Amino acid sequence: MAWQTENLPFNAFGASLKRTFGGRIQRVSIDAGFTCPNVDGAMTKGGCNFCDNRSFSPSRRVRLKRVSEQLASGIAAVTERYKKVAGFIAYFQPATNTYAPVEQLEELFELSLSIDDRVVGLAVGTRPDCVPDCVLDLLERLAVDKHISLEFGMQTIHQAGLDWMNRAHDHASMINAIDRSRGRGFECCTHIILGIPGETHEMMMQTAEEVGRLGFDSIKLHNLYAVEGTPLGEDVKKGKTELMGREDYIQTVVDFLERIPPETIVERVSGEAPPNYLIAPKWCLEKSSVRLAIEGEFKRRGTRQGSKHVAPKVDPAKRSRPSDSTPEPIRDQIEKRSRLPVLKMQC
Ligand code: SF4
Repeated sequence: MAWQTENLPFNAFGASLKRTFGGRIQRVSIDAGFTCPNVDGAMTKGGCNFCDNRSFSPSRRVRLKRVSEQLASGIAAVTERYKKVAGFIAYFQPATNTYAPVEQLEELFELSLSIDDRVVGLAVGTRPDCVPDCVLDLLERLAVDKHISLEFGMQTIHQAGLDWMNRAHDHASMINAIDRSRGRGFECCTHIILGIPGETHEMMMQTAEEVGRLGFDSIKLHNLYAVEGTPLGEDVKKGKTELMGREDYIQTVVDFLERIPPETIVERVSGEAPPNYLIAPKWCLEKSSVRLAIEGEFKRRGTRQGSKHVAPKVDPAKRSRPSDSTPEPIRDQIEKRSRLPVLKMQC
């Protein structure tokens, strides 16, 4: 594989985009005004314990014009900072970005792709229980011409960890979502959190093995970190929850990456949050030094991503596509246009 011939320790995202697009590609984050079924009561209220969802009000509106302004100003800022940028990915990041009537999603995504010739694609963050087939069909259509990445918050395969975070979905919903998403021409990315209280090293490695079994195209690894305005943040301040130390994290990330397939693109190897918003651990503010330490550990061990990967018994591409198990309250919000006026579409 290209990354191996370039002597890299893992299949890094930036290098992979450069090979595909011939230059530096930057993501521009967009808040399109979505809420989340884990906040508005469709599944539960309160949200995940690590997520600052104070702004995810079901009644908030973001005008399409505001979305285009965010994209334009983000592109201008990135161009100013890096000078040589070959293209941009519009990154729908906060909240659950497939949680709106599908016609509205279509309007929003098409607008973002057409606003500037340099926008090469979209990255759309969502939950595993929030991608009914109609949303996947839309992304499949868009992926014919553009780079589309659907980012699933899987976090862990273990129910105890999902419950501890108040995710309000199980791993079965992740399996159903990826089995319906794979092979449609868009990239399937998974977010994983390492250091969930109660999870042993062995449990985290089981999650690593599942990434290969399910055939994700890419992965974002995060350490569990606490920010202001969250239940986790309060627990950490009170000393009720302990977060993983830097050295432990570096060892665990390398162990994890050794177990995932070499073809999986690694989009992120640690969490990040603005310094004045991050409560702990402060070591994750030193993003470049964490990455260097991870690369150094691979070198020390003489291993690479995939060194300990065992190919799954069933090739992920041969897993059959199951029927859609999207929960009814979420399906209602996405398939029935009148029910969720999340996005105000008038300019
Ligand atoms: S599912 Fe995502 S957006 Fe919703 S509360 Fe959890 S982390 Fe936040």
